[in-house]
Formats: sequence, C-alpha cells, structure tokens
Amino acid sequence: MNYIQRDKKCLPELAKTSEQFKKEIAGKNRKEAYAHYDSRKSILKYNTEETTKEFKKMNYERCSFCTQIILEFEREMTVEHIETKKSVPEKIYEWDNLLCACKSCNTKRSVKKYDGSKYLDPTKVKDIEKYFVYHADGTISVNEELSQQEIEAAKYMIELYGLDRDSLNYERRSFFKDLQEDEFYEGLLKQKMNSRRIILRSVFAYYKRRIRDGK
Ligand SMILES: [Zn+2]
Repeated sequence: MNYIQRDKKCLPELAKTSEQFKKEIAGKNRKEAYAHYDSRKSILKYNTEETTKEFKKMNYERCSFCTQIILEFEREMTVEHIETKKSVPEKIYEWDNLLCACKSCNTKRSVKKYDGSKYLDPTKVKDIEKYFVYHADGTISVNEELSQQEIEAAKYMIELYGLDRDSLNYERRSFFKDLQEDEFYEGLLKQKMNSRRIILRSVFAYYKRRIRDGK
C-alpha cells in the first residue's frame, strides 16, 4: 500500500447526497437505515462521475490496496467503504469514508469486522509503506521491525484485503523481473522519495527494503 493524498475535503455533489440521506434516515436504527439505503440506492449514488473523476486523479488510476493500475478506470473502479455500509449507514456517502479499489480487492474483503485501531487508511497514514515488506518472489509480509501494535495493523490489512493472494504475488514477481532487466531501473533509484507519482512510489515501496538490505 502507498500513501494517497486526498486533496479535497469534500465533494459538493456527494456532500449534498449525504445530507439528503441523513435527513431521510433520521430516527431510524442501523438496520432500518441500511434498508432505506437499499431502497434508495438507484437514486442516491456515491459512485458518480464526480467521485470517479476525483479518485482517478488522486489515485493515479491505481487501487488503494494492491496499488495495481485499474484498467478502464471509469468502468472497472469500485468504491470501497472503510466502515462498511451495513455497520455504519450514516457514513455511506461520506467522502472521508470512501476509497477506490479494483474489483478483486473490493470483493476479496474478508468478513473480518472493521477495527478502527488496526485499519490503515492510505489517505491518513503517511508512512504506510513501512508496514509491509515485498520479496523478490512477489510475496508480501509484515515488517517485523515495527511495534507490536503496528505489526497487528499490517497483518489485519493483508488479511482484510487478501494482499497476499496468488494472483498479486505473481504480478509482483513479474514486475520485479521486468524492472531489473530495464535500464530505467537505474534512473528510478536516483529519484527523490518526495515524488507524488504513485507509480514511482510503488516501485520504491517494492524495492527500497531489498536495496537497503543489500539484496
Ligand atoms: Zn486492488
């Protein structure tokens, strides 16, 4: 995972929808509020042109979790709710509660309960890259040098989104192989870490530990 800068505090159209929805669910309990959302979702939408456009820009067309490029972004991007729709209906239309995800990460989300003390929101945790270690065979593991609490959080995220799934390991392995064979790699190593381009961040995230360890 990489840090993602959420430039906008709010999206006007979404904020309006959220306000409308909150009015409609006032006085309802959680179950009723979710049922209400379900009956209104064809009218009250969070996945709109507005949100898609903003996600495309802030994520550099990448998934917030596996960091893979989402091909045909407008069609294939899915909206992930950090706190799930069923557990916290009042946050269904809150911009802060939304991240964009590829279809695999979204559907892979396990039934594990949302745990705010472990969830690493890539738009809030600036040093999110430190939590994970990537290996030459494409696998991912938890950075064991962290504190116990941080280790627990990293484990939770890997499990929650299946970040160690076979297809991703395979993709990362091919990525490393291609990159090492590319002379562009030398140039990448000289890039500054403050680059906001996620593609570079990804490369560094995958590589920096191995480089530091001299592997
Ligand atoms: Zn993904």
